[in-house]
Amino acid sequence: MSFDDFSGDRAVAERLQRSLRENRLAHAYLFAGPRGSGKRAVAATLAQALNCLQRKHDACGRCKSCLDIEKGSHPDVHWVKPESKSRQIKIDQIREFTNAIALKPMDARVKVGVITDAECMNEAAQNAFLKTLEEPPSRTVILLLTGEPQRLLPTILSRCLRLSFGAILTERTPEQERTLSLLVEFAAAQPRGIAHVYRLHAALTKLLGEIRASVEETVPPLDEDVEAEGREKLEKERAAQIEGEYRGRRERVLEELYTWFADALLCVSGAEAAVLAHGDHLDELRRATAGLSWERAAAQLDAVEGIRDALARHISEPFALEVGLLKLI
Ligand SMILES: [Zn+2]
Repeated sequence: MSFDDFSGDRAVAERLQRSLRENRLAHAYLFAGPRGSGKRAVAATLAQALNCLQRKHDACGRCKSCLDIEKGSHPDVHWVKPESKSRQIKIDQIREFTNAIALKPMDARVKVGVITDAECMNEAAQNAFLKTLEEPPSRTVILLLTGEPQRLLPTILSRCLRLSFGAILTERTPEQERTLSLLVEFAAAQPRGIAHVYRLHAALTKLLGEIRASVEETVPPLDEDVEAEGREKLEKERAAQIEGEYRGRRERVLEELYTWFADALLCVSGAEAAVLAHGDHLDELRRATAGLSWERAAAQLDAVEGIRDALARHISEPFALEVGLLKLI
C-alpha cells in the first residue's frame, strides 16, 4: 500500500508523508481513532515508506522490505498486541519489545515499533514503556494505536504526537455537549466550594434522568392484551433493554467527564493543545488548572475514574456521583 491509497484519511497520510519528506518525523505517535479507521494500515505503510528499497518517502509495496513488513516478518519492525485470552498487554511483552527496539537496526534504515490496542497495556506495562518514551532509541519510530486514548497514562499521552483517525473521537453527542458545558461552568467557579459540587451533582443527575426518560420513550410498553403468564418475562426483557441502552448513553457522559479531567492533568503536565481531547476549550482548561498541583489533578482524575468503577459495580448512581464529585474539592 502506498500513502496515495488512503482516500478516507488523506489528512493523516499527507501529514506523515510531508514529515517524511522534510525529515522531521516525531519519535512517537499516538494514532487515535475507532476500530476500522485505518490506523494499522497507515502504521504498516509508514514502516514500509521508512524502509522501502524502491521509493523515497513512500512505499512501493513490492520490494523485499515492503513485502516482509506486510507479512510481519521484517526483523526491524516490531508489533505488540494484546494476548488473546486476557486482552491485556503485559509487562513481559513490553520488556521484550523495548529490548528489541533498543538494538541497532539489522536491515532497516529506521526501526519501527507498533503497539496496537495500546489501551490494553496494564499499568505496570505502561510504566515500563514510559522509560522508552522518555529516552527513545535513535533511528526508531514508535507508534501507539488506540481507540481509547483516555485509558493511557497522561505521561504517555504527553510524549506522543497525536494524530486523529476518523471523526468519531472529536464529535460529541448532544449529551456530551451538555456535560461539557456543565464542566466548563464548574471549572469557572473559583474558589470551588461544596455548593459548586452539589450544583454539578444536581445538573448531572437531571441530565441522566432525562436520558433515562428518553430511552424509555423509545422502547414501547407492552400491549394491554399480552397474556399474564408471558407478561412477566416480557416486562423483564423490556427493562433489560432500557437498562442496556441507558448505560450505553450514560457511558458517553462519563467519558466526557473523564476526558475533561484527563485533559486537566495533561494541562498541568504542560501538554500541547494537540494532544488534548478538549483542545477546543483550551482557555477554560487553563483557567481551571491555574495553580493546580500535579498531585491534585491526578487525584481528581482518580475520583472521576472511581465514579465509573462504582457504577460498573452497580453501586447506586446518586451515591457514586456524590462520593466521586465531593473528592473534586
Ligand atoms: Zn518497497
